[in-house]
Parts: sequence; C-alpha cells; structure tokens
Amino acid sequence: MKEKTFRSPYTKVIHAGQHPDPLFGGVSVPIFQSSTFAFQSAEQGAARFAGQDDGYIYTRIGNPTTKALEDCVAALEGGCGGLATASGMAAITTVCLSYLNQGDHIIGTAAVYGPTRTVLEKEFSRFGIEADFVDTSGLSNITACLKRSTKMLFIETPANPTLILTDIRACSRLCKEKGLLLVVDNTFSSPVVQRPLELGADIVIHSLTKFLNGHSDVVGGMIIPKEKSDFDRLRKILTLMGGTMDPHQAWLVLRGVKTLALRMDKCQKNALEVASFLSTHPKVIWVNYPGLESHPQYALAKEQMDGFGSMICFGPKGGLESGRRVINSVKLCTRAVSLGGVETLIEHPASMTHAGVPKPEREKAGITDDLVRISVGCEGEEDLIADLDQALAQIP
Ligand SMILES: *Cc1c(COP(=O)(O)O)cnc(C)c1O
Repeated sequence: MKEKTFRSPYTKVIHAGQHPDPLFGGVSVPIFQSSTFAFQSAEQGAARFAGQDDGYIYTRIGNPTTKALEDCVAALEGGCGGLATASGMAAITTVCLSYLNQGDHIIGTAAVYGPTRTVLEKEFSRFGIEADFVDTSGLSNITACLKRSTKMLFIETPANPTLILTDIRACSRLCKEKGLLLVVDNTFSSPVVQRPLELGADIVIHSLTKFLNGHSDVVGGMIIPKEKSDFDRLRKILTLMGGTMDPHQAWLVLRGVKTLALRMDKCQKNALEVASFLSTHPKVIWVNYPGLESHPQYALAKEQMDGFGSMICFGPKGGLESGRRVINSVKLCTRAVSLGGVETLIEHPASMTHAGVPKPEREKAGITDDLVRISVGCEGEEDLIADLDQALAQIP
C-alpha cells in the first residue's frame, strides 16, 4: 500500500515515512548517528551538491532518521514535506527569518505562546520588523491593524493559555485577499485534532516537545508547508541558519509519535471529564474548554477540529491566592510548564509561561491573574478528578 493512500491518523503515525531498514530488515527506523555521508565517487558527491542525486551529504542539510519523522508529520498534516527543527522556537524563528524583511509587519494572536510574542516584539524589532498582537478570534481586530507592510498572519488556535479559538478558514480567505502568508501554530491540537493546511493555511508549525512526542523527554519542532516553493525556501534558510534537528532526537520523537492517536483519544476523553467536573464545582468561577457547550466558540470548535484537545483553563473562587493554593495542593498532577505529555501538568501562566508579557498586555489577551492552566494527560480520570477535588477543598 502506498503511503499517500493512508487515510487514518492511527495508520499514519505508525507507518508514514517509516520503512523496515533495507540492510537487516530492522522494523524500527535506525538512528543514523552520522554527521556526514560517504560518496561512492567524486562524480556522485558533485551530483548530490548539484541536486541531481537525492542521497545524503551532511546531517545539518538532511539525515535519513530525521527524514522519516519529517515525512510522518507531513503526512499527518497533509503538507508537501516537513522540516524538523531543534525546538519549536527554532521552527517559529526559521519561518519568520525566511519571509520577513526589514520594514515588514506581522500580526499575531494576542494569547500566543509567551516566547513567540517576546521574540517578535523584543528581538525581531531590532531588525526593523514590526509586530501587532490582537485578539484574532474577531476578524475585524485583524483588519483594523492591517498595513501596506503586513506580510504575515501568525495564529495560534486554541490560543495559549486562554483557549480562545480563531477561525482558520476565515483567516485564510482574508490572507488570500490581502496577499498575506497564513502561519498556524498547531501545537495545542496536534494534527490528529486539527489540520490547518486543509482549512487554507500556508504553513503549520509544531513544538514536537508537546503532544507529538508526548513523553516530556525531548525538545523539538517542525515546519510543514503546503506548497513546494515554500518548502524549498524554508529548507534553504533552515539548513543555512542551522536550527536543524539531531537524528537521535528525531528517533525519540518517532518513537513517541507512534501512539499519538491513541494518546489523543484518552487525554481528550479525560479533559472533557475534568472540564465538566470543574464547571460544576462550587469553588470554580469559570472554565474554558472548547469541548464544553458553554465555550463561546463551541460551534466553531466542532467545525474546525476533530475533537477538543486536552488543554483546560479555569479560574478558582478567590483569584490568584486560591489558584496558588490549588497548584500547591495537587498530589497527582505535576506542577510544571509544558504540555501534551502522558502526565497531567498544572501551572500558573501569569507568573510562569506568560510572565514575560507585561501585565496590561496579558490582561488584554485574557491571561488574567486567576487563570490556572491544566494539560490533561492519560491517567485514569477518576484519579485526576479526586486529586483536583482534594486540592480545590483547600480553598477557604
Ligand atoms: C512549547 C511551545 C512552543 C515552543 O516550543 P519549544 O519546543 O519549547 O521550543 C511554541 N508554541 C507553542 C504553542 C508551544 O506550546
């Protein structure tokens, strides 16, 4: 069966890009831990540099283990290829460095991953690149800050940590009309739950550190463009600037990704149970989870996602102090940033992941001081609910 015909994500995570090794038949893709690759002749070496022979040259430019992971994730997202990066941030900076010039303007979702905003607002500004971060859930907020110099719309949906959604199809229509590149950070959903390229995005980026690897033991990233011309541009910049992935790292992510679809089933089921529990708890004022009918964009979630993910945020009664108490009282949930692993993690964005965003900007983005974020893992839901129940009981 040709891998282009694989329909199900359950099949793709196990087989796309991954073939028994031709030398000994090893079922698991080998780790090609080699920085450089021997040429059979001077002519072959020259042909590889000229692009007439697609064999490997040097691991910063390409590696067979890394390629297996790139092909697997590209198949999951429906892209023309994948480019593995050393981290999710390397994926984001590579995309920006590939397309933005001095004087260009970028619009982003206000509640994005903290360092994405910091790098664009505080570091890319040094090169004369301007950034505006707005609530992209309203299309008019985007159009209101469009400039002649706007080149790119960078969205994260569901947003981090507010879980507000942005309509990918509507953004794609706007970007096509205005000639902008639409980039979607799909880390919070994984391609099992949401495939932005199918909804009209040009480029998807991932932090593989999260759901795709899924075991909180590797850092990595991936860029998946829709078009070959974008793939070529991104590949050139990535391999020149050097933010590429190591083959051992790629092998670890390949090992994790095989269970992605199974893990998503369980953690999403858990998340719905936990969100429902929280939403009726007397010590909880509000809960945001796209799978609750009370979420203001529940209809959009059902339309553009194949599930609701496993990220939840909520506000306990008594605000920040109570949030601290809950975080300090959990016994099963782990107090840690990051997300998408098999273990449930709990954190406080205003003082941790989003502490780098100034408070007025945080508030404007909906990242209030009382907001507690949970990445629901794959434990038994009864144990998770019992743990949160005893932690919430500590609130006076
Ligand atoms: C973690 C994360 C990143 C950055 O990824 P790293 O692998 O930590 O560099 C980017 N976007 C989102 C949504 C993330 O959660």
